[in-house]
Amino acid sequence: MSTYEATQPPENATCDTPGCGSVAKVRMIIPKSLFTADGVDHSQDPPTFDACELHWPGIRDTCMRNGHAVVDVTGDLRELMGEFPRWTVFTSDGGWLYASARVGKSKQGVTVHAYLVGQLRREILAMELFCAQQTAIV
Ligand SMILES: [Zn+2]
Repeated sequence: MSTYEATQPPENATCDTPGCGSVAKVRMIIPKSLFTADGVDHSQDPPTFDACELHWPGIRDTCMRNGHAVVDVTGDLRELMGEFPRWTVFTSDGGWLYASARVGKSKQGVTVHAYLVGQLRREILAMELFCAQQTAIV
């Protein structure tokens, strides 16, 4: 078993799924050890696979079904929960991360979602900022 790392792709990365080419949301870093037999020097360039939001859940699923661990290297979910105690953080089977909270005096809750802990943190911060601005206007 090996560990695949899921991380934030570069700004202009596109999905590596043949025929797709959508904006990539997650970059999978594939362990170098798997590629030693192909005779190519990967030491400078770790193999990666960028996936869009449509293809990421399937790719993640395939890796896990093949016995690989997929580790989110952008952050720790428990740590994130500690950082934002007002938010309820939960995950879906498809690999989505969610955070929901009741913002300000509003009775209505908001939910943000992402694929990676680092992305979810940004979504929460953006939502808190947005709500703070709304409150300031009212
Ligand atoms: Zn795609």
